[in-house]
Amino acid sequence: MTYRGSCHCGQVAFDVEGELTGAMACNCSICQRKGSLLWFVPSAQFTLATPDGNAGTYLFNKHLIRHRFCRTCGIHPYAEGRDPKGNEMRAINIRCLEGIDLEAVPVTHFDGRSK
Ligand SMILES: [Zn+2]
Repeated sequence: MTYRGSCHCGQVAFDVEGELTGAMACNCSICQRKGSLLWFVPSAQFTLATPDGNAGTYLFNKHLIRHRFCRTCGIHPYAEGRDPKGNEMRAINIRCLEGIDLEAVPVTHFDGRSK
């Protein structure tokens, strides 16, 4: 299944391939503020449909995760990082995916504050 995701204004859009079986809600300092629900996929399953430069990059803490946000509307649709094995991953904010039933996606709560 391919999902289309985007920011609010459409300057940042992408396609994600995979089965959305769950998402993670995290209570770390940035996730709490964004309210994002995250779905982690290998970067090969992620295709940007708009120029990379349309999204700004926010770094904090150890700078291990690149939080990408639309320079125009400010929405944070995805982030870039690596899994513990070093594989390049994308963390998709599923609130930015089109045509999904958010209420039907099982959400796991992650304690990112104590990590
Ligand atoms: Zn935008």
